[in-house]
Amino acid sequence: MKGDEYILSLDQGTTSSRAILFDRSGSIAGMAQREIAQIYPRPGWVEHDPLVIWSVQMSVIIEVISTSGVKASSIASIGITNQRETTVIWDRHSGKPLYNAIVWQDRRTASFCDELKEKGHEAMIKEKTGLLIDSYFSATKAWWILNNVEGAREAAAKGDLCFGTIDTWLLWKLTNGRVHATDITNASRTMLFNIHTCEWDMELLDLFGIPLSMMPEVKSCSEKFGETNLIDLKTTIPVSGVAGDQQAALFGQMCIEPGMVKNTYGTGCFMIMNTGSKPVLSRNNLLSTISWKIGNNVTYGLEGSVFIAGAVIQWLRDGLGVIGSSAESESVAAQVNDNGGVFFVPALSGLGAPYWDPYARGMIIGITRDTKYSHIVRAAIESIAFQVNDVMEAMSSDLGMELTELRTDGGAAANNILLQFQSDILKIPVVRPAILQTTSLGAAYFAGLGSGYWGSVDEIKSQWRSAARFNPSMTSENAKSMVDRWHEAIGRASEWAK
Ligand code: ADP
Repeated sequence: MKGDEYILSLDQGTTSSRAILFDRSGSIAGMAQREIAQIYPRPGWVEHDPLVIWSVQMSVIIEVISTSGVKASSIASIGITNQRETTVIWDRHSGKPLYNAIVWQDRRTASFCDELKEKGHEAMIKEKTGLLIDSYFSATKAWWILNNVEGAREAAAKGDLCFGTIDTWLLWKLTNGRVHATDITNASRTMLFNIHTCEWDMELLDLFGIPLSMMPEVKSCSEKFGETNLIDLKTTIPVSGVAGDQQAALFGQMCIEPGMVKNTYGTGCFMIMNTGSKPVLSRNNLLSTISWKIGNNVTYGLEGSVFIAGAVIQWLRDGLGVIGSSAESESVAAQVNDNGGVFFVPALSGLGAPYWDPYARGMIIGITRDTKYSHIVRAAIESIAFQVNDVMEAMSSDLGMELTELRTDGGAAANNILLQFQSDILKIPVVRPAILQTTSLGAAYFAGLGSGYWGSVDEIKSQWRSAARFNPSMTSENAKSMVDRWHEAIGRASEWAK
């Protein structure tokens, strides 16, 4: 194999699309990124235009090729990673979407989800899919499009429609409509996929009125999905890796042994632990999901999502106006040695895992005459770590084991005070890797393994390097009393808006 080949990783996220070229050492050789427009037709509704997603994705591909000087003929293969759960339905003959993509954040099917719970479907759905009934997942979004677009149910019955998450949509477009497929991690977030048999589940498809003919073929994360010549008409490039964004990050962090866990500190926090070859069904309101499939081996995961993490720092900037930039939160918090007794529950849109309390609201408590704005900033940073600690406790309890290290990524993982405090209350080392683009890197790894660019996981696992390591420095008594106080604060903020 030539030495000058690259893997092209396409990362289609909620707010932007990226294209990154990685070389054989896992280093970045070029990157382009552009935002995509958010569409908010009504309160609680969030949509993207699938054709915009496609055109922005192509534009960043062209940009990274032209700015890096890497030729299309030097791209060994393509990997795709994507915002998960977001749903597109299109006509298989014309390729035209029936409706905008309904984004994972969209809550329009919340009352239908309540109905499903009232009808007693929760246990069956949790057992089969590992998920809790929620409008977050794709099934009720597809149900809504079929019910609300004129003629959609008839077209579906005739076999004229395709369902897809964003990976499937991009793959369809890249292959000129020749391939209708997804990978197993994206399938596991639809609430239509049985994570034990690893097949679309007929009982669930019937429940939502979705014919099997609409569903994409489910492949592993690392094999040939199809090929494209749209980047350069004279060059055919295989697509050989696909995974949902959080699973790709877990792989990019090389959390390849059971018990290894990563947390992404973005707008929210997404923590996933590798649980090995068997699904662990949570007793603590976490989700069981598929981490990846390579060859015939399925690796499962346990996941907890926190809705407001970096977003509380944005609120300090835009809502309260006490910092000029997110990064400034660190220097402001460093003006004080501790939170001065102030606790901040950032339930700005309810609480996610492990509380799932949509009626909790934000609260700052413990303010006295000595309180400075820097205490409040520090309390906001600490609130991110407390929430991660709650998810970690739920994971340890589900697994009956203590975790030994947390790998981190995402925008807020740049904050040293946050990662030090995280280590203090978790009482384990917290590590920031050298490459923070772990989502794109994970997709590149799946693609490179799928096309033979890299020979085995062993070959790439030594590429992961830590850039900074934070070790616990607080006494156990102090850590415990802070966490106890946090739980008291959570109790006072819960169900406030009910
Ligand atoms: P997403 O992928 O969810 O858009 P990113 O991973 O890009 O998020 O992270 C952006 C989030 O991280 C923002 O909410 C921002 O407030 C927060 N953030 C960025 N830098 C810092 C920092 N130095 N300290 C704390 N929070 C930060």
